This record gives sequence, structure tokens and C-alpha cells, in this order.
Amino acid sequence: MSSSTEIEYDPYQHVVRFETDAGRRIYRIRCDTLRPLPGYSYLILGKPDDSSNNREHDFDKHSAILADCGTGENGCDRELLSGLELVRTMYKEDFQPTDIGRLVVTHAHIDHGGGGKQFLELTGAEAWCHKYDAGVFERYDERAAVGNRRFDEFLQHAGVELERRREIIEAFGFIRGRGKPYSISRRLKDGEQFDGITVCHTPGHSPGHICLFVDSSHIILGDHILARTITQIWPEQIAPHTGYIHYRDSLGKIEKIAEGKIGLPGHEQIILDLPMRIDIIRKSHQRRMERILDVLQNSREPMSIAQIARKMYLSQSGVWTLLALTDVGARIEYLEQIGLISIANFDELELGKSDVFLYTNV
Ligand SMILES: [Zn+2]
Ligand SMILES: [Zn+2]
Repeated sequence: MSSSTEIEYDPYQHVVRFETDAGRRIYRIRCDTLRPLPGYSYLILGKPDDSSNNREHDFDKHSAILADCGTGENGCDRELLSGLELVRTMYKEDFQPTDIGRLVVTHAHIDHGGGGKQFLELTGAEAWCHKYDAGVFERYDERAAVGNRRFDEFLQHAGVELERRREIIEAFGFIRGRGKPYSISRRLKDGEQFDGITVCHTPGHSPGHICLFVDSSHIILGDHILARTITQIWPEQIAPHTGYIHYRDSLGKIEKIAEGKIGLPGHEQIILDLPMRIDIIRKSHQRRMERILDVLQNSREPMSIAQIARKMYLSQSGVWTLLALTDVGARIEYLEQIGLISIANFDELELGKSDVFLYTNV
């Protein structure tokens, strides 16, 4: 860990403090976003050239930035506010929630931006995010309907029966009315800078996913890279700018600058050795690709995505069904793109005799 990094803990780890190499403070605030998965918002205080010795009255009002804001559900909004209060009382920052001028959302998933509407109303802040994810916040019900429709088509092609598809979409699809729409004041682009923060577009987990480089020591990672879990990827069939190729390229983007930087993800613990974590993630993806090729190699018949997922993942209940299907789906899409597998029943698909894509090794 670099010597410029200072980590202090409160008894419940509700708030954790970091300091960047330019003397800014980043406070990680824990929220019970999607139970049982805790998530983190990051409050950035101070200007890039602040010194840590001079942090009492050293930032303009409305210059504070919050990265992600949780779901706004299950008391998550209260947890966020109590975390902000701890920043003031425990860490002695001269700060009020209304000093937050900008909410920057890493990506349009409910656990990162779902609580935006309440938060903006409370603080008067503006919301910023990448242009490819802005539509989800501004027109949630429209994006939900389109997203569920595409998701259903994917499940159908994957070989999931109608009844099961309904169950999966009801349990894990977008829920109309769940997202409370709010407007995005600024649509961020890759490479854009503001207040010493650089935006890095990292599509894959979501089309407009961004990471935020704060000074030259810390990277707010959203869900792009997590410390233990391999980030969920989706087939591009469900959403453009997701899929394995985008994800892999986005990993490479972070890898180029990762050396010596501290990763601050949206879930799980902080990442002190980002290059090593990226290497592990890459190898894990490679192994899963090889496993799919093995499964197909050892099968007498061509297989659907649902059949491959059943072979690869032991647990097929609850959310695992969704994760297994989308994970295999994204990899199958890639393996087909690079010509390692092909579709065996294209005649039937063309004639409308089947809706299920069956794959075989080339
Ligand atoms: Zn996410
Ligand atoms: Zn998340």
C-alpha cells in the first residue's frame, strides 16, 4: 500500500476513509443495497491539491461529489444519510449533505443509482453518468420493457421453457415502476475530466459503465472489477455494449494504469493489487471458456445454452439460474464470434421450426 494512503475504520465499518495522493478524502459508505449484498457509495471531498493538514474549511460548498447512491430501498437511503452524518461527526469534516453538488453514477443498475431521485431532491445535487446508461435513469419504464423483451428472447434462444422464462423475468427482470426516473444533467464521455477526476468508459457489465480515476492513487470501480466475485457479464443480445469482448477490452483499459493504484469497488473489499486481481479475473474467464468447449466436445449432441449451463453450474435455483444462463450466454456469443463453435440447427432456425439455438464445436 502506498504511504499516502490512510485507512481508518469506525467500529461497524459503516464509513471508511481513504486519502488520495493529492490530499483528497474519499469516504466509503456502506449500504444494504440488494440484500444480502452490501454495496458502497463513495463521497469525495476536497480539491485535488488539498493537503491533509488543511482540511477544515478547504472546499467550496457544492463541490463535494458522491459516486453511486444505492437503491433507495430497504432503508438504504437512511444508511447513506447516516454515513454522511458520520463523515461530519466522526471524521470532523466541515460538510453537509447539501454540499454534494454532483451525484456521479458508475452504471445504471438499481443498486448504484436506484436511490437517485430521493437523493437529488434532498441535496439539490445534479446527476451525471455515461451517455449510454443515461436513458435507464431518465426513462426507466421504457428501458425496463425493452430490456425484459430482449431478455426473454435470449432465454428463448437459450432453450428455457415459456413457464420458466416467465418465472425468471418476474424474479430478476426489470420491474415496472421500481426505478424512480430522474434527469441526467451531464452525459459523460470516455477520457473526460472534471475536478481532477478522469472518466474511463468500461462497458461490459453495463453499456455505459464508468470507472473514475480520482487523482493518481485511487480508482472507483463500480462493478467492473470486484475483489472476490467475477463480475456478471451479459450477452450483447440483451444489451449492446455489454458482452465478453467489451468486458475484456475494458479490463485491459484499467490494467494499463492499474499499477500502484487502489481499487474501490461497489461491493466487497477494496483491491490493493489491481494488476494481480485483473490477471486472476482474466484467467478465470479463460477457464470458463475452456470448460464450455470441453462440455461441447464431450457431448454427442449439439447443446443449447440452458443445457450447457446445467452441466457447468451445480446450483440452478434462485438467482443462480439467471447468473448461469447469462454467463454461459455471453461466452457462447464470444466463442461463436471467434469461430470456435457454430450453430448446428441453423436450417431449423431459418425455417422457423425451432427457436432454440444448438451449438457444437467447430
Ligand atoms: Zn451492476
Ligand atoms: Zn452492483
